[in-house]
Amino acid sequence: MGRLDGKVIVLTAAAQGIGRASALAFAKEGAKVIATDINEFKLQELENYPGIQTRVLDVTKKKQIDQFASEVERIDVLFNVAGFVHHGTILDCEDKDWDFSMNLNVRSMYLMIKAFLPKMLAQKSGNIINMSSVASSIKGVENRCVYGTTKAAVIGLTKSVAADFIQQGIRCNCVCPGTVDTPSLQERIQARDHPKEALKAFLNRQKIGRFASAEEVALLCVYLASEESAYVTGNPVIIDGGWSL
Ligand code: NAD
Repeated sequence: MGRLDGKVIVLTAAAQGIGRASALAFAKEGAKVIATDINEFKLQELENYPGIQTRVLDVTKKKQIDQFASEVERIDVLFNVAGFVHHGTILDCEDKDWDFSMNLNVRSMYLMIKAFLPKMLAQKSGNIINMSSVASSIKGVENRCVYGTTKAAVIGLTKSVAADFIQQGIRCNCVCPGTVDTPSLQERIQARDHPKEALKAFLNRQKIGRFASAEEVALLCVYLASEESAYVTGNPVIIDGGWSL
């Protein structure tokens, strides 16, 4: 028997990285997964796995989200994964960078939760997981000005939803990883002037001596999505190899 048998789980940014690993881990535990992403090509590959259906969704578009929500009959778990890492201090962050990150990292979660929460309330049960980071209100990280701001906002949003709907059977937690080996991390390293040194600096900040794998973070998400975590709500759950120690 799987730990998520019969649960319907909707997640965003599922085409690669932590989202993809989570979609696979959820399906392996018996969930019916609706995996969404903006990248249709990469998303399609997930159709090969039993228990996973895919749907193209741009989480910055309210109309698309509302249309998608109207198509979903039942939802047990909503996992908001989509997010973008802007590199730089406040002085490197232009208005367009600020707006882009606030839109993709925070407003998308506001829109998704608003669209799906009424269904959960009607069912008298629901579970929301948001993707935050230790680069947030947990830890000040160099060159993560707008990113850290958005991920701190995700923690605030998570606690607020958890507090407002706890008596209606809704849980809401967020995941706060350190550095996770995903395609976008590799891109961020390669984009730096000295990729070898950048890799070393990224590795040095993980006290445990290595990056997390997306699969390790996905296992924490399985726990949060399952009934094993029924008493856990409103928490920023840290998985960071000791970075924030
Ligand atoms: P990633 O950055 O490699 O992939 C992101 C996915 O988001 C892609 O498949 C992309 O197509 C999709 N996407 C981009 N814009 C979208 C949009 N408008 N609508 C829908 N989908 C869109 O994935 P990752 O590195 O696993 O990061 C996933 C989440 O985890 C992000 O929120 C990120 O901030 C967070 N996180 C990552 C790390 C890390 O080290 N990788 C650490 C902490 C937190």
